Parts: sequence; C-alpha cells; structure tokens
Amino acid sequence: MKLLNRTRVPAAALEAVLVAAGRMVGARTSGVVVCVSHGNGGGMAYECVRVRWAGRRWMNTDGGAFRIRLGCGDPLDVAVAFFKTAAHEWCHIREYQLGGRSRFAFSGWSGLRRPNHDDRPEELRVYKRLREKEEKGRDVNAYAEEVIGLALALGARP
Ligand SMILES: [Zn+2]
Repeated sequence: MKLLNRTRVPAAALEAVLVAAGRMVGARTSGVVVCVSHGNGGGMAYECVRVRWAGRRWMNTDGGAFRIRLGCGDPLDVAVAFFKTAAHEWCHIREYQLGGRSRFAFSGWSGLRRPNHDDRPEELRVYKRLREKEEKGRDVNAYAEEVIGLALALGARP
C-alpha cells in the first residue's frame, strides 16, 4: 500500500487500520494507493493505474486506489468509522482486483449523503460481503488493537 497522508496523524497509525481493514475483506493491499485527508468521513474508490491528487506527482497503482477522509469528533468514534469506511472501500478494490472494470462500475461516496449510492449493484455486493464477514466475527471488534491505536493517535486518553 502506498499511503498519501494529508493529515497530521502519524502514518503508522493510519496504515495499521487501513491494512487491517483490507485484510479483513480479503483485498490485496500491496500497490494500492490510499489518500487520507481530514474531512467529514466517507471515501471513494477508483479503478485506475495512475492517480494524481492535489497537484502532487503522479503515482502508479497496482490494483486501484481510494480516498478516505477522517471525520472529526470523539477519537474512538472517528477511528471506528475510519475502519468501517476503509473496509467498504477495500471491498470495491477487491472486486476491481478480481474482475477488473466489469465488476466495478463506480463506487461513489460511501457516506450517507448520496441517496442513490446504496442501491447500486456494486454497493449491494459490498454490504453483503461485509455482512458475511461480520457473521463470521470479522468486523471492527476483531481489529480493536489497530483501531484503538488510531484513536490514541487522534488524541484519545488511554
Ligand atoms: Zn461504495
């Protein structure tokens, strides 16, 4: 994974959560470009071989890219939401890695601001996969160490 860290949060804390979320859903994390910034939460996955964000140099991807935004508020809530958004985006990336463009129409924002988002076939597949993982006990609770690590980096008191 190539992290483009546009936050003040230490890269290691972000990386640990991102990699854990990718592992949970079975995505290949190596070579994927992930851009993290501050914002209102949410994320967007891309099928691409190169990305260029915020006027920076072009970066080659191997298996897609996604943007994700850290929300604000209670550090633990923000860390949990970050993990869940990352898991969602990794599901899109996984489909792209498995099937290429045909399986990955366009992911759109995974926040709640786009009413059409949730009805798209690729979104329904993502929700189904996350549900199946959850039923097997693979959800945010299985990665508490990484999530709490991020919450501490965000300023939570231990
Ligand atoms: Zn989505």
